[in-house]
Amino acid sequence: MTSRTPIIAGNWKMHNTIAQAAELVTALAKVENKNNAEIIVAPSYPSLNIATRLLKDTPIQVAAQDVHWEDKGAFTSAVSAGQAKDAGATLTLIGHSERRSVFGDTDEILNKKVAAALRHGLKVIFCVGETLQEREANKTLEVVEGQLKNGLAGFTAEQLNGIIIAYEPVWAIGTGKTATPDQAQEVHAAIRSYLTKTYGAAFGAATRILYGGSVKDTNVDEIMAKEDVDGALVGGQSLIAEKFARIINFNK
Ligand code: PEP
Repeated sequence: MTSRTPIIAGNWKMHNTIAQAAELVTALAKVENKNNAEIIVAPSYPSLNIATRLLKDTPIQVAAQDVHWEDKGAFTSAVSAGQAKDAGATLTLIGHSERRSVFGDTDEILNKKVAAALRHGLKVIFCVGETLQEREANKTLEVVEGQLKNGLAGFTAEQLNGIIIAYEPVWAIGTGKTATPDQAQEVHAAIRSYLTKTYGAAFGAATRILYGGSVKDTNVDEIMAKEDVDGALVGGQSLIAEKFARIINFNK
């Protein structure tokens, strides 16, 4: 069985000033990491640079929350993958549900964003997940598979090597409602089987699949205990150093 290094990633969304970001990463840099997890923080753009500089001598990696699909041009307010990389990011989220639902990112747009990130050597954390309505209509696996199929269309296993998938049920993000460990495991197993079918056994076995949606210090252990859950993408609690530290140090 392939052993996969766990990943604990924090998505700060539109929170934290530069000073607050500096304070938070300084605290995180001192946190114990008993599971030798890969730790990632995703600040908003203005704080990418300070976070990268303060984390330079630590194993904590810095991600952008999104990138534009073009490299440059007349796209007021957008940030390109090259600019995010220049600011210090080594990874980027693509397809977070807030990008899909609030900003209208379609599968086609996300596919172009993945291409832009890969062009610039940014690792991708590709987010998928169903709405409550889709879950209640028993469409979860179909929706998630469709998001993977369309969002990652046209890339080979070699190009996608190292991609991280985040399963985030929309109904669990920022709501305090968490998928049960069994619900998460069912979807993670289906994602792994899709990756295996599409990109081969080695790819399926090696790809890390994170769970996101109201992960807390109090529920991380039971979620991380599931076989196909390789980590967590954390929103709210990643803003509080002590809580995020406890999540990083989940009990196996
Ligand atoms: C997220 O933003 O990806 C997320 C999972 O948020 P929260 O942990 O607050 O539900």
